[in-house]
Amino acid sequence: MTHDDTLRTSESDSRVEGGKILLAAPRGYCAGVDRAVDVVEKALDLYGAPVYVRKEIVHNKFVVESLTKRGAIFVQETDQVPEGARVVFSAHGVSPEVHAVAAQRHLATIDATCPLVTKVHREAVRYAKDDYDIILVGHEGHEEVEGTFGEAPEHIQVVGTPEEVDNLVVRDPERVVWISQTTLSVDETRQTVDRLRQRFPKLVDPPSDDICYATQNRQGAVKVIAPQVDVMVVVGSANSSNSVRLVDVALESGVPAAYRIDKAEELQEEWFTGAKTVGLTSGASVPEILVREVISWLQERGFPTVEEVRTETETTTFALPRDLRSDLKKAGQIDVRPHARRTAGPDHTS
Ligand code: SF4
Repeated sequence: MTHDDTLRTSESDSRVEGGKILLAAPRGYCAGVDRAVDVVEKALDLYGAPVYVRKEIVHNKFVVESLTKRGAIFVQETDQVPEGARVVFSAHGVSPEVHAVAAQRHLATIDATCPLVTKVHREAVRYAKDDYDIILVGHEGHEEVEGTFGEAPEHIQVVGTPEEVDNLVVRDPERVVWISQTTLSVDETRQTVDRLRQRFPKLVDPPSDDICYATQNRQGAVKVIAPQVDVMVVVGSANSSNSVRLVDVALESGVPAAYRIDKAEELQEEWFTGAKTVGLTSGASVPEILVREVISWLQERGFPTVEEVRTETETTTFALPRDLRSDLKKAGQIDVRPHARRTAGPDHTS
């Protein structure tokens, strides 16, 4: 069933008295995730299995399992990849040290780092070169933060909360800049930056938002829907920063209850007792098929009507990495990217 079919079915069922689903848009795949998944799929088609992938290509269990079935081998570290083999670096980015290890092991690398993460890496390098103290707002231990931190470890300090700002020690309070992880809560980050500015009034801002368009748009849609629903369901994995933030944003925006699930099977009927309207969204690494399964589950349990609430239309797309494009061209394969799937969603069932 296509997404359109889902909506049509619900419209034809609108005579049924019952609950309603408010479906956030934008939701699901962003341009960086779409590209990263496409990189692995195209690498498997072009070079054949196995293709190694360092870390989860995107933080979604279903995507990782689907690619594993197709011949991708996910490893935690580059030294687990056999000498000379091919490895894809995930959308979250890697530090220069990871590139160095890969070169020592003669690995053929394909870098699927999202260009918007690369932008933050470049900022870190530039400000380190200008000898700033760099405050990286983000979650310690998250892969993206590790990658950005690795660009200039002597210059960067990571802060996760406004309270942590109080413990910072910098060399010169007049030469401090902040940058951030791309998938944070916009409002929480603002609080942390406000605290930074109180401590360092000459704090320098990054040249443009580091929290990416996709994160901001998904949070924006949730903010509009949350006050209108009794329960919010966010589809996304526990290690997906932007999905977890959507739950936070929903709760902060007034929804009485919000749940994050990986898939429809995790839904519990008691969550919806007495609810008339359910909000539904998905993180930037979530294929649309998982959302459709949640819709079907809810429709079978008294929520026949689906109303999509669109707050932004996204048109961003990213080209494949240059080396992969070039190999595709040599093999006579045209780089036609299935952009439409960002809104329709890939099934990944093969
Ligand atoms: Fe890129 Fe933003 Fe998507 Fe992360 S969430 S992959 S930064 S577009």
